[in-house]
Amino acid sequence: MLERNLILREIGLTPIWQSRASVAQTSEITAHAETDTNPTANEGIRAPAIVDPAQRAARIASLDWDALHADIAQCVACKLCSTRTKTVPGVGHRSPEWMVIGEGPGENEDKQGEPFVGRAGQLLDQMLAAVGKSRKENVFIVNVVKCRPPGNRDPEADEIAACAPYLERQITLAAPKLLLAVGKFAGQQMLNTDATVGAMRAQRGQRGDVPVAVTYHPAYLLRSPLEKAKAWEDLVAAKRLTGDK
Ligand code: URA
Repeated sequence: MLERNLILREIGLTPIWQSRASVAQTSEITAHAETDTNPTANEGIRAPAIVDPAQRAARIASLDWDALHADIAQCVACKLCSTRTKTVPGVGHRSPEWMVIGEGPGENEDKQGEPFVGRAGQLLDQMLAAVGKSRKENVFIVNVVKCRPPGNRDPEADEIAACAPYLERQITLAAPKLLLAVGKFAGQQMLNTDATVGAMRAQRGQRGDVPVAVTYHPAYLLRSPLEKAKAWEDLVAAKRLTGDK
């Protein structure tokens, strides 16, 4: 059932026709049904709704913070919903100076529902503290995808695309002074490019009015500590971009 639902969703048809009995019996996926569906009071039958990506994006673009994160918690828009433990919407100050964008939750984040809580998160917090920033005071931290890719594999294009309206809305609501993308996936998503991190670091990115800085992912820095000096340079340059002393 789960697989069938996922395939139907993949081709834009969801939810499928279901009786209340089967809804009650089964399935996680039904419990997580999209809110932009078309429920009717018609004797337990839910009319199938075609979830047009543009309509879904428009609906998400109208949500406030709490509604947005509640929506993420229910999301079944891609296959990651079937393997996640918790969704990981984001953490920090909702009117931040900086918004940090990572790749996707790992094992610890998936268990706790909070981004960057493992070793990479500790390093990220240290990097931010070195430039006077913290998730407690002036930073909001999110990921490109809000559910853990199994086995910590890279997020796939369809998963990134399904999650993009959430990230867009978070950026709009947060209205940060700076977007700091850590790693390839966040940088590419923010700058709409397939360039390498090395190339993106050198770029003066902009997303609307908001400057975008790209640096190495903290997990990469844990593996390649000699690159930390470059990440430090990136953070200092990022700070200058916003006129921060
Ligand atoms: N790596 C990420 O990109 N995000 C997390 O939340 C944790 C590790």
